[in-house]
Amino acid sequence: MSTVDLPLLPLGRGTDPSSERGVECPGDLPPASDPDLVERARAAKEALGEKVFVLGHHYQRDEVIQFADVTGDSFKLARDAAARPEAEYIVFCGVHFMAESADILTAPTQKVILPDLAAGCSMADMARLAQVEDAWDALTDAGVVDAVVPVTYMNSSADIKAFCGRHGGAVCTSSNADVALEWAFAQKPDAEDGAKVLFLPDQHLGRNTAVLKMGFELDDCVVWDPRRPNGGNTVEELRAARVILWKGHCSVHGRFSADVVDELRASIPDVQILVHPECTHEVVLKADLVGSTEFIIKTVEAAPPGSSWAIGTELNLVKRLAARHPEQNITFLDKTVCYCSTMNRIDLPHLVWALESLVGGTEVNVIEVDPETEEQAKVALQRMLDLPGRSHRD
Ligand code: SF4
Repeated sequence: MSTVDLPLLPLGRGTDPSSERGVECPGDLPPASDPDLVERARAAKEALGEKVFVLGHHYQRDEVIQFADVTGDSFKLARDAAARPEAEYIVFCGVHFMAESADILTAPTQKVILPDLAAGCSMADMARLAQVEDAWDALTDAGVVDAVVPVTYMNSSADIKAFCGRHGGAVCTSSNADVALEWAFAQKPDAEDGAKVLFLPDQHLGRNTAVLKMGFELDDCVVWDPRRPNGGNTVEELRAARVILWKGHCSVHGRFSADVVDELRASIPDVQILVHPECTHEVVLKADLVGSTEFIIKTVEAAPPGSSWAIGTELNLVKRLAARHPEQNITFLDKTVCYCSTMNRIDLPHLVWALESLVGGTEVNVIEVDPETEEQAKVALQRMLDLPGRSHRD
């Protein structure tokens, strides 16, 4: 086990422990009470014209989404940015790993800006490079590493994607995780006890995909806890496993519970439960439909008026869907408020500050992946793009 201190980074990259938020804004942030914020954002965006392209993740606040040139999931947004080479500045209203992916996929001349560096992702932070390298060493000592192909979910840091690139692995999204796993297993046809996948960092997406889409048994999966020797497994368990699930999860989707599914089914006639595969296996087993954010949006858009839905994904998106589809009965699949707190750190004051800084000639909060990491991460991303069939939507 590494002796390196590996705290989670819920407060974002470049954390300053003396600051309550983790990362202080390095400039003069306008007060949230400024009545002119909307007008200031509009004016700054207009002044920048084609030079700026604003990306808005589906889970982002309405006050920010209104200024997005395009909305989508992380992978779609990164590709949209790459398709706009004339945009010198990509302002990414999302979280840190998304801005990294955009930097990897866009031209070197384009600069990616994250309006608040404190917008991290707790799931991505659950798999740190030093921990994953320790795990790889332990798998080597256990004599199984030659049978293992690492696959990482898009929701991971650039250095984890690069690790997968270096070790013959790939990236996947929630839409193509099954195709990526099939591909990964096929990479080790001669493995004595069967090929294995090390799935990073979301154990729920990995388990739901392996068991519900690919027909593995729950017993074929083990969980790798980076804080325990051998991830908390015996060598025999590692030899027998087909899927090694990194012990990470999304703090938003992990909150939905099977009990609430039962309660809503009892209280809303004909309700259909529609959830994201980052939810726990228990919740996904009880759902009617499971899919990515794009799948959730399309399903609701295509549903007949009068349909009833209980949706298990981030609350900003569910609220927007409910507002756009008053002809349907849309309920949130949790009793409490459940926003992605780090994504929500990108608010209007930060967006105004980032845009006005650019107007004034100052580039702030530029996210830049180092060239070696970028090259290796691109290898893993390209393997995903080369997967057969299927959209790569997140
Ligand atoms: S919703 Fe979950 S996976 Fe997505 S950014 Fe927030 S914490 Fe990360």
